[in-house]
Amino acid sequence: MKETAGPGFALREVPEPRIRDDEVLIQVRRAGVCGTDVHIHEWDEWAQGRCRPPFVVGHEFAGDVVQVGALVQDVQVGDRVTAEGHIVDGRCLLCRTGNAHVCPHTKIIGVDRDGCFAEYIAMPATNVWHLDDGVPYEVGGIMDPMGNAFHTALTHTEVPGATVLVTGCGPIGCFAVGIARAAGASRVVASDVNPRRLELARRMGAHEAVHPSEAADVVARATGGYGVDLVLEMSGVPSAIHQAFALVRVGGRVQMLGIPAKPMEVNFASEVIFKGITVYGVVGRRMYDTWHQMTRFLRSGAFDPTPVITHRFPLEGFADAIQAIKSGEAGKVVFEVG
Ligand code: NAD
Ligand code: ZN
Repeated sequence: MKETAGPGFALREVPEPRIRDDEVLIQVRRAGVCGTDVHIHEWDEWAQGRCRPPFVVGHEFAGDVVQVGALVQDVQVGDRVTAEGHIVDGRCLLCRTGNAHVCPHTKIIGVDRDGCFAEYIAMPATNVWHLDDGVPYEVGGIMDPMGNAFHTALTHTEVPGATVLVTGCGPIGCFAVGIARAAGASRVVASDVNPRRLELARRMGAHEAVHPSEAADVVARATGGYGVDLVLEMSGVPSAIHQAFALVRVGGRVQMLGIPAKPMEVNFASEVIFKGITVYGVVGRRMYDTWHQMTRFLRSGAFDPTPVITHRFPLEGFADAIQAIKSGEAGKVVFEVG
């Protein structure tokens, strides 16, 4: 957990969460570790402004329902589940117009309330997502970042036959490569500065995985000089964002998931307007279109996220887990709990 306002995590005995009538209690089996957890661990400026210790960290998980509140109807004890970690009000303009992923009243587990790096977590029943029998807890435990990739790759896009550039091959970029292939992209080019991550992108099906300095040539060759139909920007690095605008074709789409650490300059005239491109900002996962898409892709067998998982630790190994992410050597890092 995050015990105090400063760097680090602590392993502590905490009381079992009490559920409200509209919540369920879930015994956590697997939990994914993510860059957000590293920010909270390091206690950077964002974490200082957002988080109020003490609280339990972690927002990606899967497990078993062990208790249900009095008002819960469609979740039962024994169900194998994961959950959408963004808890929305369900009542505002956005929620009621099918845009709950940008609800202004969103509370995130492991950030704004207790999360899943624990034996048990309380979740509103409306956020629970059932796992198919064939989906292991480990895959259920990473459906949050997988969902970021599905949202980015498949929302308002036309992937079949398309040429796709994925900038940034972290866990989410690697998922996106696999999704673009499964959805029928004709050519998937992936870029990263880290050779290990390029290797992972190749394993996930990238036709070409290259250093950003080679991306322009590779894209030009793959697209007859036009540029790609679709860029999935998954690094948040300013030079990669400029490259996304440069390498998308005129009239193409850039889906922006990566979050730049600071404000950056964009030449809107040349990079966006005169290229006639469409730019889409990605927040979380669409509720619950993205979850349905994930379930269908997993069912079809066309998409397997497991090669992206490279490291597994018990909760006690949290320091090693954080270190594995910071090293840049890891794909997805998961905790094996209970
Ligand atoms: P990550 O940090 O593991 O991956 C980013 C990758 O970009 C790294 O592999 C890095 O080597 C690579 N990179 C660095 N410079 C590059 C360049 N010039 N060109 C291409 N690649 C370059 O992160 P992740 O967990 O996979 O997440 C990806 C991004 O998405 C992060 O910026 C994260 O903050 C953001 N994110 C956004 C949302 C959202 O809802 N919008 C949700 C989750 C994560
Ligand atoms: Zn809302």
